[in-house]
Amino acid sequence: MQVCIHRGAKEIGGSCVEIETKGQSLLLDLGLPLDAALSETPLPDISGLKSMDESLLGIAISHAHLDHYGLMAKLRQKVPVFIGDGAIRIINAARQFFPDIPAFPNTIGLRDREPISRGPFTIIPYLVDHSAYDAYAFLIEADGKKVFYSGDFRGHGRKAKLLNRLVKNPPLDVDILLMEGSTLGRTATDNEYPSEDELEDRFIKIFQSANGLTLVWTSGQNIDRIVTIYKACRKSGKKLIVDLYSANILMAINNPKLPQPGFRDFHVYVPEFQRRLIKKRGLFNITFSVSACRVYPEKLAEMARSSVMLFRPSMTEDIERAKCLEGVSLIYSLWSGYLKDGRYQWFIDWLDKHQVPIIRCHTSGHASLPDLQKLANAISAKRLVPIHTFEPDSYKLFFDNVEKRKDGEIWTV
Ligand SMILES: [Zn+2]
Repeated sequence: MQVCIHRGAKEIGGSCVEIETKGQSLLLDLGLPLDAALSETPLPDISGLKSMDESLLGIAISHAHLDHYGLMAKLRQKVPVFIGDGAIRIINAARQFFPDIPAFPNTIGLRDREPISRGPFTIIPYLVDHSAYDAYAFLIEADGKKVFYSGDFRGHGRKAKLLNRLVKNPPLDVDILLMEGSTLGRTATDNEYPSEDELEDRFIKIFQSANGLTLVWTSGQNIDRIVTIYKACRKSGKKLIVDLYSANILMAINNPKLPQPGFRDFHVYVPEFQRRLIKKRGLFNITFSVSACRVYPEKLAEMARSSVMLFRPSMTEDIERAKCLEGVSLIYSLWSGYLKDGRYQWFIDWLDKHQVPIIRCHTSGHASLPDLQKLANAISAKRLVPIHTFEPDSYKLFFDNVEKRKDGEIWTV
């Protein structure tokens, strides 16, 4: 068996690993690098991606984050794609609003620990705890060899028990562990890993002390976080107002346990830019499906004090127009890096102008060092190869049997 990290050996994002044996190959992820434009990023040089070649048996996508599937947008071949059912539903729902998100014409659904065989390969997906819903690690077996690819994972989210289950009952005799290390080298301020349950308590305290509308800027695809916020709303007597994009994703996942239209104190607001988009694209079935819990702009000010609203900077004009700025506060529930890169300076200025305080309330989607060590020790692979990290050189300080590889290097297992 031969393995090649096409991208990801020394960076976070753009992950792509090829496993080849007997002239047939399998890809793990086909990501877009975090800071790269799609138009400027070519597909990796892999036979079967740019032209039809049946030696490429499939692409296993670990989870629905663009840094793991973004280059699918450039794929013109109908290569089979293995991906979680929930993950593909999220991608399809998001694509209704953002047509640049890639389509997946040929998918095979993954289920936790249900093996799939293709040619010489057996793929065993392991459901993992991550900020992306329905995320997997993969055990790939072929030629009597085993490669375990961690994907992105953590051990402090709503599904923390998944890491414990894997650690208690790990795959045996693994030759190569390709393990992410996103949090290695992070600064002290980003080096805290409260659990989603702890965040829930923090949200409750903030919601209870609010003097006006509480805005929460988070990702509409971070389902764990939306559950945390909804639970905190219920416990602090607040209504949750989500935007139509987020509501559409929650409905599309088709999991009756997730907060969605029809749930108590759950409302949907259609921001102006989403309203225009719905009209332009004729997506009236989506607005129709939230009609019973829809909040119109003229009602917002009246509901402000008793409500928490999912928010993104494109909604500033909605908030101004609805005249609900009095006492408003913003909870920032995303990675701190987005606020530092200058993209949102206009928004920080807007907050300043209206004297809106920013309160941070977030936890990482990635494993802390102790949780990375927990997985590495449990799997105890013959070789641990760094991936999805800016710190491949520091792995040897924290883990045993580290073998660093370069992007594009092909090695034999
Ligand atoms: Zn990632």
